[in-house]
Amino acid sequence: MSGEREARVGTQTTVVQEAVAVAEAVEETLPVPEPFGRALRRKRVLVFEAHGDDMEFTSGGTIAKFADRGHEVTLVVATDNDKGSFELTADELRAARDREIHGAAKVLGVQRVICLGYSDGDLQEQAPHALLRGQFMRIIREVKPDIVFTWDPFTPYEGHPDHRAVAMAAHEAASFAHFPLYEPEQVEEGLAPHYVSEQWFFAKAPRERNKFVDITAYIDKKIEALCQHESQMVLMVQGLQYALQASGLDVPWLAELDPHDYREVIDRQVRAVARAVGRECGFEYAEGFRRTRFDGILRLAEGQEPEEDV
Ligand SMILES: [Zn+2]
Repeated sequence: MSGEREARVGTQTTVVQEAVAVAEAVEETLPVPEPFGRALRRKRVLVFEAHGDDMEFTSGGTIAKFADRGHEVTLVVATDNDKGSFELTADELRAARDREIHGAAKVLGVQRVICLGYSDGDLQEQAPHALLRGQFMRIIREVKPDIVFTWDPFTPYEGHPDHRAVAMAAHEAASFAHFPLYEPEQVEEGLAPHYVSEQWFFAKAPRERNKFVDITAYIDKKIEALCQHESQMVLMVQGLQYALQASGLDVPWLAELDPHDYREVIDRQVRAVARAVGRECGFEYAEGFRRTRFDGILRLAEGQEPEEDV
């Protein structure tokens, strides 16, 4: 481990500890919403994402719904998105992304954000798998989530290396955080092993979805949270314009659009995607996930089904 990496890990440990301390202070002051239902209680939700807008695109409505129902949400952002612009410098972008991520988190009701600060697109080089999995396991043991959200490590055709890296590290960390012999130095420090009950993976294709969430009441929040990511929404419109130009096709409204006037395009696209998922399950707007829960114990409890939180 290089000196630089030791410094990075040390800094991140402090960041996590500070975030947890803040959350514990917040938790003491929060009222417990009523009613939660017969088996329900306030749960902790932990989202691992590669880039600052992954959660909003894939699960923004669901996260807003969890938060609205009184559950506690923590977001971990692995990279600083410092390559995601055609018009800003990397330094300008990092500053903008920090502001945008926190703005969106506020819209959705996310209570704390932990930014690990790795460089966009280079996560696998900067944080090899074992290092990233260990960091994620530390965060899990600190935050003690019931539910972990992340990219799906087993989905085909995932083109972004940061998504693949976060997906596998988060899945393995969530699967093994309750084993005391994984990362034993964390346990020696006093961090208790922790069992994660459910893993929710962002699902891109219909065949991957086994859990749907009705987000009809939260579609506006999802769109508003995405629009907080100004630099990335501008980038998205510019990307569409590059593709349009290269294709030779004729879509005048898109060709003539000022990328900074992105709101209408985002609104239209987000509603179209959520409406399509909704058609699969009978809701007006929905998000879908591949979910695993309780390690298959349900097979031994025939006829019983745990309550759904959302
Ligand atoms: Zn991403």
